[in-house]
Amino acid sequence: MSVVALIGLGGNLGDVRSRLGAAIDALDGTPGIRVVARSRFYRTPPWGNLDQPDFINAAIAVETSLDAHGLLDALLATERSFGRVRDGERWGPRTLDLDLLAYGDTVIHDERLVVPHPRIPERAFVLLPLADIAPGAMLAGQGKVADLLAGVDSAECIPLA
Ligand code: ATP
Ligand code: MG
Ligand code: MG
Repeated sequence: MSVVALIGLGGNLGDVRSRLGAAIDALDGTPGIRVVARSRFYRTPPWGNLDQPDFINAAIAVETSLDAHGLLDALLATERSFGRVRDGERWGPRTLDLDLLAYGDTVIHDERLVVPHPRIPERAFVLLPLADIAPGAMLAGQGKVADLLAGVDSAECIPLA
């Protein structure tokens, strides 16, 4: 059985644009994961911790035979392989962040995983790319992607050519 999952990508250290492209290719090459849609790339202002470089963000849809925790493990392994180091600073600079935004219609709340990702409704940098690939997606407990996007200020998030 396969499930469609939505994944948010971001980073703000080094050549993020080519790294995000390579990370998408790496996920597509991971057993049990097939990339079926990809958004544009956006330049976005930092969030949470404002004293750091701008980010580049994107979103992809994947078809996966992995369960949600297996998919999270694959995302965390891919982050590590692209140089992600967690130094304890929340929302600090990073080479690559891969967040599981949604896993089919499944709702998960455990120590390792909260799905749908709880901070989607307040993040233009997630909603704008998500609306490129899944504007009609209903996020459990949050609403429809296009409606959520209408509720945030995305003026400073700029699509890259
Ligand atoms: P945010 O979640 O606010 O975007 P972040 O992406 O910087 O912050 P990370 O350091 O990447 O946070 O993740 C910390 C932990 O969050 C991960 O090890 C993972 O276990 C947990 N986590 C819980 N829910 C999710 C999810 N939906 N996607 C990715 N990680 C999640
Ligand atoms: Mg994140
Ligand atoms: Mg993360």
